[in-house]
Amino acid sequence: MSVQKLVIKNIGQILSGKLEEPLIDGDCVIAIDGRIAAIGRYADLDTDQATQIVDAHGVTLAPGLIDSHVHPVIGDYTPRQQQLNWIDSCLHGGVTTMISAGEVHAPGRPKDIVGLKAMAIASQRWYENFRPSGVKMLAGAPVIEEGMVESDFKELADAGVKLLGEVGLGSVKAGETAAQMVKWARKYGIQSTIHTGGPSIPGSGLIDKDVVLEADADIIGHINGGHTALPDDQITCLCESCTRGIEIVHNGNERAGLLAMRTAFEIGQAERIILGTDAPAGSGVQPLGILRMIAMLSSLGDIPPEIAFCFATGNTARMRELDSGIIEIGKSADYILIDSAQHAPGKTMLESIHQGNLPGVGMTIIDGIVRTQRSRNTPPAERLPEVVL
Ligand SMILES: [Zn+2]
Repeated sequence: MSVQKLVIKNIGQILSGKLEEPLIDGDCVIAIDGRIAAIGRYADLDTDQATQIVDAHGVTLAPGLIDSHVHPVIGDYTPRQQQLNWIDSCLHGGVTTMISAGEVHAPGRPKDIVGLKAMAIASQRWYENFRPSGVKMLAGAPVIEEGMVESDFKELADAGVKLLGEVGLGSVKAGETAAQMVKWARKYGIQSTIHTGGPSIPGSGLIDKDVVLEADADIIGHINGGHTALPDDQITCLCESCTRGIEIVHNGNERAGLLAMRTAFEIGQAERIILGTDAPAGSGVQPLGILRMIAMLSSLGDIPPEIAFCFATGNTARMRELDSGIIEIGKSADYILIDSAQHAPGKTMLESIHQGNLPGVGMTIIDGIVRTQRSRNTPPAERLPEVVL
């Protein structure tokens, strides 16, 4: 097969996704066969024999956004809100990778052990075999139930399952049982997340800080509640008492989300902050949810927007062991091209986000392939990138 070479030129600025250096120098990024091959100045790079050229016309290139917390079921359909093409809508909001926290909205979801294992394996397969609109959906996240034994986790891992659904959404609600199962999962390379806070929908329950700490899942799922948050002292205690991922979601309590973020900064652990939507859920699907979280945390939390982008890119990629999320040679060429929304205040796009506004998405690229051009969902961008070859 011939080599696919994507050259993006005239980039105005590059957001790296890395907290330690969120803005990097360069006006050109080159991808070969879906991986980043060069970053720098157009004049210095080998741009010959491109199979596709994008003129960014001065807009910003950022890593594709990662939604750390979604509840898919099958294909691009969610039964929770009877909605089609919700994943495609989120791609138009800049999301190129999604991580399942459990396929819990499946009508008739099996809760017996053989049934839940079968569904997890099937879900992992159908999203591996079919990416809606090109979006990488990491799914097949079983919700653990009482009675599971170590061999169940080994069997799941051997079959390709890499995630647990939110601990606490099934019958396992006691810290001790949860801790044992999380350990078994970890032993076989399965990552875990836990529901934090009050019940989200009928059937789920309260998980307080003592259970979260005892279970010791890899990610403190929606630390700001989904939607009901724990009391403030429990949220700060969770940040301070462990080193697990601090996940802040759109379908949660915004004030509690800001508290979690501020606490993480106070203890010097901003690298633990990751973002999700928790959609589809009772409050629906939010195609712009991750961008809205970035704007909310940056503006109300008064942090530089280029740092807030890291919560939805590099931080998540590191914690979730993804080969995307940062602009670095060898990583997946998953990017978004964004600019100030038309008539947004602020001299630059980053300033407009710092004032609480959303950027306009002009293009999304996954694995070095242009997936969408001007977003149908964000406010229109001031300037738009253009495919010129
Ligand atoms: Zn939850």
